[in-house]
Amino acid sequence: MSHTAVLIPGDGIGPEVAAAAQFVLAEAGAEIEWVERHAGLAAVERGATETLPTETVDAIAEHRVALKGPCTTPIGEGFSSVNVALRKRLNLFGAVRPVRSLAGVSTRFSDPGVDIVIVRENTEGLYAGIENLITDGVVTSLKVVTEGASRRIARFAMDYALTRGRRKVTVLHKANIMKLGDGLFLRCCREEAAAYEGKVEFESRIIDAGCMAIVQKPEDFDVLLCENLYGDVMSDLCAGLVGGLGVTPGANFGGDHCAVFEAVHGSAPDIAGQGVANPLALIMSGVMLLRHLATSTGDAQCNLIADRIRNAYNAAMIAGEKTRDLGGELGTQAFAEAVARNLTVSG
Ligand code: ATP
Repeated sequence: MSHTAVLIPGDGIGPEVAAAAQFVLAEAGAEIEWVERHAGLAAVERGATETLPTETVDAIAEHRVALKGPCTTPIGEGFSSVNVALRKRLNLFGAVRPVRSLAGVSTRFSDPGVDIVIVRENTEGLYAGIENLITDGVVTSLKVVTEGASRRIARFAMDYALTRGRRKVTVLHKANIMKLGDGLFLRCCREEAAAYEGKVEFESRIIDAGCMAIVQKPEDFDVLLCENLYGDVMSDLCAGLVGGLGVTPGANFGGDHCAVFEAVHGSAPDIAGQGVANPLALIMSGVMLLRHLATSTGDAQCNLIADRIRNAYNAAMIAGEKTRDLGGELGTQAFAEAVARNLTVSG
């Protein structure tokens, strides 16, 4: 069965890793017709007047599935985050970021290994972007917490755990200090989790103590449920347990059946254009896209292709074929070709 999906190369290392991911998916036999659209600096360079052109948002709404490279977010000034805007415009309220120890990538956490999924609320919290300059030297940033969005993400996380056979959901919060905001989030999570009693275990942890526990005993954690900012920070922290941002994929799901698959990493301007970025996180995001197509369209072949790609990148890395961030020597395209060579080996 052939499928149509939107491809947003992004900017910085985005076009390099997107091309590598497209190459691996095609070599593995995925029949996907890519509709290319642009966002961020890449859109502006092509003459768009906004960093998130309507035609890009419309294409995702039409085709429902997208693979997206990172888009640069200027620090401290300039335009607001394209990544955040896209999630809000398409109501992609839930991010899912699996973090797993990989064969061939040895870290100090490899034994007994890490297998954590971060579920992040994508639409509000401090990322609502409501900031005011009160007077010179005084700024307020408003953290928005609504009951609707909190209950929605809690149900999403519990359902995710239930349908994927995960044993436990841990909500991370700071309700001891932000009694109203985080307090509301925590209360909603507890109340929604009650409906899953006996099926999925639920616990809450204060986020600072939770961070310490995660780096001490990551095997105690399964699904982490976080509001927006905490989810962003925890994603990078957990990525560090398994080899870094080069190996951490992600997906954003919404209420209107759209899904956008993107790596956790940003546009990495420090290494852009050098052909050295690790494309694995976006390749793994492509694997998540295939599994989503299998579920949403009933095309079981997509699951088989996803398995082939996973087996192939594991085999490549066990053989020492890795990019520089993982201690190897391969460039972006050379790594993609190594994965492609292992597709035939792993069957
Ligand atoms: P953003 O705020 O846009 O999410 P970030 O702060 O997470 O971005 P990144 O752009 O992801 O920052 O880069 C962080 C560091 O990780 C940089 O040193 C970058 O070179 C490195 N890095 C990120 N992605 C990759 C990758 N795919 N391959 C190799 N190194 C990477």
